[in-house]
Parts: sequence; structure tokens; C-alpha cells
Amino acid sequence: MSTLANKIQEVFNEPGCGKNQGKSEKERKKGCTKQLTPGGAAGGCAFDGAKIALQPITDVAHLVHGPIACEGNSWDNRGAKSSGSQLYRTSFTTDINETDVVFGGEKRLYKSIKEIIEKYDPPAVFVYQTCVPAMIGDDIGAVCKTATEKLGKPVVPIYSPGFVGAKNLGNKLAGEAILDYVIGTEEPEYTTPYDINIIGEYNLSGELWQVKPLLDELGIRILACISGDAKYHEVACSHRAKAAMMVCSKAMINIARKMQERYDIPYFEGSFYGIGDMSDSLREIARLLIERGAPAELMERTEAVIAREEARAWKEIEVYKQRLAGKRVLLITGGVKSWSVVAALQEGGMEIVGTSVKKSTKEDKEKIKEIMGQDAHMIDDMTPREMYKMLKEAKADIMLSGGRSQFIALKAKMPWLDINQERHHAYAGYVGMVELVREIDKALSNPIWEQVRRPAPWDETTWEEVADAAIAKEAAELAANPELAEQKRRAQNVCNCKAIDTGTIEDAIRDHKLTTVERITEHTHAGGGCGKCAGSIASILARVSETASVTEAA
Ligand code: SF4
Repeated sequence: MSTLANKIQEVFNEPGCGKNQGKSEKERKKGCTKQLTPGGAAGGCAFDGAKIALQPITDVAHLVHGPIACEGNSWDNRGAKSSGSQLYRTSFTTDINETDVVFGGEKRLYKSIKEIIEKYDPPAVFVYQTCVPAMIGDDIGAVCKTATEKLGKPVVPIYSPGFVGAKNLGNKLAGEAILDYVIGTEEPEYTTPYDINIIGEYNLSGELWQVKPLLDELGIRILACISGDAKYHEVACSHRAKAAMMVCSKAMINIARKMQERYDIPYFEGSFYGIGDMSDSLREIARLLIERGAPAELMERTEAVIAREEARAWKEIEVYKQRLAGKRVLLITGGVKSWSVVAALQEGGMEIVGTSVKKSTKEDKEKIKEIMGQDAHMIDDMTPREMYKMLKEAKADIMLSGGRSQFIALKAKMPWLDINQERHHAYAGYVGMVELVREIDKALSNPIWEQVRRPAPWDETTWEEVADAAIAKEAAELAANPELAEQKRRAQNVCNCKAIDTGTIEDAIRDHKLTTVERITEHTHAGGGCGKCAGSIASILARVSETASVTEAA
């Protein structure tokens, strides 16, 4: 098996991966060997994922071996901030062309590495493999090895051609590369009992800097953040940390688990979003460090910092309470953010009318119920039209979501705030939560909304009236024709990659008595692409299982 095939198999069989743990022994043995079909990488390819994961290492030259479009697609699209070198934002690509496809691109790659080292003298060069060089058989491993020996700098191959899978897989392949070529290759100048690694934090909009001052105050040193605002040397020395926190469980679980296995560094999964979660994360860091030899008084100091910061944050949020009281928020995000910011919003006097759970795990959903009550409105999948309707009918006053849904809010002439990766404000830590409430307040009280809602003097019928009339007409038709309504419901797409609708999944569950998402994927292919619809499939399964007793056929 090739190096790449081996790596992919290893990542798929990662025991720390929640998805794998949820599988039966038989399914786990099989691994996730299913071949991807075209479109399977929709939403970001593996190369994109690898680049997202490693580009925040700021002093490294990130060289993309492939056509220029790959780099154009992935360059600097996340806003990871640096406190020092800006080299990570310089775009390097071999920009291979037809001649390279015919004669091979290895020479061009070597020349590019050499040129980068001569011009920029970085501590290391990371070489990303993309689809075309992988298909024509360029041996980037051999080129990187030769370049390392001849040019005297670490040159690291990242085996991440886009066609092997989706963004998440790319994150893990990037993790494998630094485990194999970077971590443990250098030694820190000194170590302390307070050295930690933070894994899966990318310092988007400078979020790490909202947490770091508190760790500094406690005397806790971030030996390496993988990879936000990191330097190559820090990542290379990270094997000397005493404990680790893994910030985003899905992205880099393999790094955390393998570092525990190889270097005996215990880790926990935590979040910096939300006041309660931030406190829990600080406590857990202190607990792990004490377990590994730090003085027990660290916990007392940690609790004192937590008490002070919590009190300060709640007090600052209190200021906005009067203006925000009763405002309704529609939260379209995923993962931990689907619940971790809820407490701060509720404390600001806001009501959460719905939170999306499309990308949330079972634990996330439990947590939502805990915070918002059993009747919490969890939205599995909301069509743009439903979002529009909700905002238009003022069932929500503001929508918090990623950039892609912003135009729905803008069409409804309602405030919107970016809460996902392209955001320009940092929402981590205690100050981040106050910042979030402040930004919501600013968005809600922006006078522009009042102005754009006024009809233009020359409009006899506004486009909204036309749209509203069309929506109302369709709703009336469906209400009058239950058969048509059912047809429409069943025709709703669940898996965009494979174009599988609700009805097909429901029928497969009933006809074949399926009881797991994996079995549904086997039968219908739904969920066999980027995997984002796994939550929706699980909800359909739960719903169908509730109405019909389903016992899986052997
Ligand atoms: S690596 Fe492949 S899938 Fe990804 S952007 Fe490049 S060509 Fe497209």
C-alpha cells in the first residue's frame, strides 16, 4: 500500500474518533474504506482541510504543489492572526502546467523549494500535495527528503490530494504530517511544570489572545498551539508539554491521541466559547497540570481567576440587558457553538428561538436540552426559505450564522452577525462572550434597518410583497392538498453530495429495517460524501424508529 493509502487507512481507523467509537466491532473492522465518488469533497477538499489546519503556523513557507487554482481556493481564507512572522500569508505555489503533467512536476517542485529557502530563509517549508501531482505520480516525499538533505532545512510533505476526501480528513492528514515530520524533532530551551499544548485552535481573529493573558497570569505556558499563531520551533518542541487541551474534537483528535500514546501527554476536550465552558477548560488545564506535578496551589489561583473573570463578564453583559431584553435570536451554527454561547445570550436577556444541530454531536444535543430545556427548538436542517420566513415574520430579531446564510437575513432586512470561521470579531474566552453580546447589540440597534425597511417611494408593490404572496400561495396549496404536501416533504434533499431525499431514506429504513446511520449510508449512499448530513440522517432514523418498531435485519 502507498504511503498515502496507509495514512488514510490509519486516520479512518483512529480509535479516538467519536464516529468510529459509535460503530459496531464489525463495522469498525471494515474501516471507512468506501471510495469517494465525484462530488464527495463538496464543501472543501482534503487539501483545503490540510491547509486550514497548518497555515496558521506563521513562520513556515506553505508551498502548494499543484495548479494555481488550488492555492487560490485555499489561500488565507480564515483570518488566522500572527503575533510575529507574516510569511504564512505569502502565497507559494508551483503552479504546474500541461508540460509538468506530461513530464512530471518533481523538478519544478525542487526548484521552488530552493528558491523559497534562498529568498525567505524560513525555518521549514511545508509542501502540500494536491490532486494533479498525486495523479501523475510525483513523489513529493522523495523531493522533500532530497531538499531537506541538500538545502539543510526541514521540508515536510503533506499528503493531502483533494480527491481523497473532505476537509475533515484533510485536517487529520495534516496532523499525521506534523506527527511524522515535525513534533519531537527539536528540544525546548527549558521546560516547566506548567507547559501545555493547545491543539485545534487556529487563532481566528486573534481568539487565542483572549485566552492567553489568563494562562500567562496563572503562570501556565503555551508550549505550542497547534496551530494558531505557532512557530515551527514551538510545534517541533511540543512533545515536552505536560498536558494538552484539544479545542475542536473533530479536527485534530489524532494529534492529541498519538501524543498521549507516544509522549505520555494527557489531554482533554474543551472549548473556549461560552463563560461556563471557558471556566471548565481553565479548571481542567489546572487539574491535569497538577496531576503531572505542578503545585496544588495552582487550582486555588485558577478558581480565583475564574471567579473574578466570570463576575466581570456577567457585569459587563448586564449593561446590555435592558436593550436586549426579549430580543429573539436564531442561531445557525454547529458543534459546541450551538449551545456554548446560549447561556451568555440568555444572560443578556435574549431568547433563543432556535439553534441548528446539523453538525452537532449527540452530546451537543444533550447539552442544548440541559441549557434550553426539553422543549428547545433544535433545527436539523432549515431551508433558506424557512429562515427567511422566520426572520420576516419577526419570529427572530437577529440571525447568528456563517457567511453563506447572511443574504437571507439581508433579504429579510433583518440584522445578521457572522459567528463562523470568517468572522472579524473574536468571541473566545470571557471577553469574547461580552464582545459577542456587544456586537449583537450593535447589529440590532443599527439605524440602517429602519431605513431599508421603508418602501421606496416609486414602488407600488415591493418585491417582498410579491415574494410573500408567492409563499402564502404555496402554503395554501399545500394545506389544501395533503398528498402534495407529503410529496414535497419526501422530496426534500438530505444529502446534497449524493442527491438523496428524505423519502428515499425513510423507505430504506422501513424496508430494510435499518438501525444505524452507517447502514443507511450503505443502502442509500446518503452521507457518503462530505458527511455533513449525518446529523439529519440520524434525526430521520430517530423519527422513523419512533413511529415504527424497526429491528435491523441480520
Ligand atoms: S486539491 Fe484537488 S479538489 Fe482540492 S482544490 Fe486542488 S484540484 Fe480541487
